[in-house]
Amino acid sequence: MTDVHAHFAGEGYDVPAELARMRRAGVTRVILASDTLAHAREHARISAEEDGVFFAAGIHPSESNEYNGDTVSALKALCGRAGCVAVGEIGLDYHYPDTDKPRQWEAFRGQILLADMVGLPIQIHSRDAAADTLAVLREMRPHLGHGLLLHCYSYGKELLDDFLRLGAYVSFGGVLCFKNARRAVESCVACPEERLLTETDSPYLSPFRGQKNAPANIPVVVARMAEIRGIDAEELAARTDENADRLFPGLRGER
Ligand SMILES: [Zn+2]
Repeated sequence: MTDVHAHFAGEGYDVPAELARMRRAGVTRVILASDTLAHAREHARISAEEDGVFFAAGIHPSESNEYNGDTVSALKALCGRAGCVAVGEIGLDYHYPDTDKPRQWEAFRGQILLADMVGLPIQIHSRDAAADTLAVLREMRPHLGHGLLLHCYSYGKELLDDFLRLGAYVSFGGVLCFKNARRAVESCVACPEERLLTETDSPYLSPFRGQKNAPANIPVVVARMAEIRGIDAEELAARTDENADRLFPGLRGER
């Protein structure tokens, strides 16, 4: 099993203990997604020391004020490190009222170009910004050739086809276990099996509300996903692992 999106840096984890717990749960791989350059560096360090730990280097839309020529150069260097399997998380987040949208667009477009240049897929964070995310992706389509992931997909199934047509993979996590998760459940059921991935978004969105999430919870996500899609959990785990290998060749040591 694979956790394609989790955060360790700055979250107070006992990393070796957390990874031991993850492996005991049968989760063999985790991709640590980064929101800032400092956290990307921390994830690169953990990845270099630990088997099965990979990372994505990128600046989160809510941290777009740190996006500039220097940080792009530093991210580019990190993308060349072993263990870096994606650029991310990048995207648009309009949740907060003081959002500097043009700055987010600039950072999103710039990091899509970076991913294309270094030959890596992107991990996309999109919150309350579906229309603009689609607009940027359509405009940047010639640069999406290395693949894209919509992480923690939160929009309705009506929009799913628009993202799938752009070649997107879609990952779901603990939200599927929430009582009010109708939208995510419907989208998860509607997603073609060959585009489906599993994530925790640790430390957020634990399937056990109020608890700190961890990659060791991936079997809970897999079981719930299998239940709502009406298939065998082991079968689903195998399929989503294959999908992860296809989208992130770096997981197999290939770039
Ligand atoms: Zn995240």
